[in-house]
Amino acid sequence: MSAIDIVANLDAVKASIRKALGTADREAEAVELIAVSKTFDVDHILPVLQAGHRVFGENRVQEAASKWPGLKRQFSGICLHLIGPLQTNKALEAVTLFDVIETIDRPKLAEKLTVAMEKVGKRPDCLVQVNTGEENQKAGVAPRDTAAFVRQCQDEFGLPIKGLMCIPPAQESPAPHFALVHKLAEQMGLPIISMGMSADYQIACQLGATHVRVGSSIFGQRS
Ligand SMILES: *Cc1c(COP(=O)(O)O)cnc(C)c1O
Repeated sequence: MSAIDIVANLDAVKASIRKALGTADREAEAVELIAVSKTFDVDHILPVLQAGHRVFGENRVQEAASKWPGLKRQFSGICLHLIGPLQTNKALEAVTLFDVIETIDRPKLAEKLTVAMEKVGKRPDCLVQVNTGEENQKAGVAPRDTAAFVRQCQDEFGLPIKGLMCIPPAQESPAPHFALVHKLAEQMGLPIISMGMSADYQIACQLGATHVRVGSSIFGQRS
């Protein structure tokens, strides 16, 4: 994908978000686009930064550490989201590198992040991942356990929990999953709802997402 194509894709996705928000009577600025740059190198990311976009997602700490410190020195205002599973032994590096950690799903990880935040002196916004499809192979807390886990993260560990994220099962219609996460976040008074990817971000925009995570529709197919 050429730089021109990537920027055209970025604009098309933004237009599509605005359109979906319009049909749902939501404000044009209600959703933040997270450009998911995992597997793509700096040459692919630069045109998006040069076009003025600043919010990105990566799913691996190691890969992000190889790309983003340099880019953060070159461009101000970058907001980097961790959207992939986090191992406890990478908590310190994740806190150092990321501005939002979207995938908190177990007490041990919450505890390690608390310690890491104190050490680094930085408190990235935190989201709890909800396994809406209750899939065994997928990370996240079950919907019925979400409220208790959010409270534990806040009260026991003092984490700045700002919202929820989900990845619905691939074979299912995403709408009921999005609606469920929207309802849970509302019940808990959490302002951030991260849901929707290339295949379904317009639906997520209509169902209350505040952040959508779009990769291949911007950068092209991952090899
Ligand atoms: C890769 C990834 C995305 C982006 O997926 P696309 O289908 O390429 O838009 C979004 N969220 C998570 C958690 C991902 O791992």
